[in-house]
Amino acid sequence: MNKKHLSANLDQVIWNIEEARISVGEHHIVKLVAVGKYTEVEDISTLYTLGQRAFGENQVQQLKARMEALEALPLEWHMLGTLQKNKINNLIDLRPTLFHSLDSLDLAKELNAKLKKKETTMNCLLQINAANESTKSGVRVEEAVDIYQKIQEHYPQINLKGVMSIGAHTQDTKIIQKSFEQTYSLYEKLQKNDATVCSMGMSSDYELAIKCGSNLVRVGTAIFKN
Ligand SMILES: *Cc1c(COP(=O)(O)O)cnc(C)c1O
Repeated sequence: MNKKHLSANLDQVIWNIEEARISVGEHHIVKLVAVGKYTEVEDISTLYTLGQRAFGENQVQQLKARMEALEALPLEWHMLGTLQKNKINNLIDLRPTLFHSLDSLDLAKELNAKLKKKETTMNCLLQINAANESTKSGVRVEEAVDIYQKIQEHYPQINLKGVMSIGAHTQDTKIIQKSFEQTYSLYEKLQKNDATVCSMGMSSDYELAIKCGSNLVRVGTAIFKN
């Protein structure tokens, strides 16, 4: 993809984020994580030359390949996708900036044990299945606070930084909005447990997510589309 085109896409996304965030409040800062899963590694380095520093992938394998290919650049890397248990050690070795999709107490237990063995820690978000969709992973809204606290209490190698959610899978904006509002309300409750990150919003709904309180958006298609 040529630089000019990528630059125009990125500018548009940054502009939209700016507009949405200002409508929430001047001091509401939103972080953009560029999701590269649909694009080539070259586009990621081009985006770096345009000033983007945070990148996300949804597969450990691809994350590893890209981190290695772009090792020379001072980038931060986010893991966004469902983590299979047989990939836990691989992810730990990559030392991601943030793992967004810690989606069960069971996974937390195994992750904690493997982190302990390697004498390290990982920054994680608890994934919330706010729309209660059977196709999505994540904990249910009703049990989220309890699970969050349990992880903090029993799994000290895991640094919980907040929550992550994927907007409801529908064209109905009201339903998407409701799922974001539920996640945000959980985030508010968890601030007393040191939650600082509310990761919600993708290409189709990041402006809405920001208006509902998101402070981290994960955008792929809107940046890398032709
Ligand atoms: C792919 C993906 C994104 C980005 O999706 P787009 O619709 O391309 O912006 C964000 N979050 C997660 C968890 C993803 O898997």
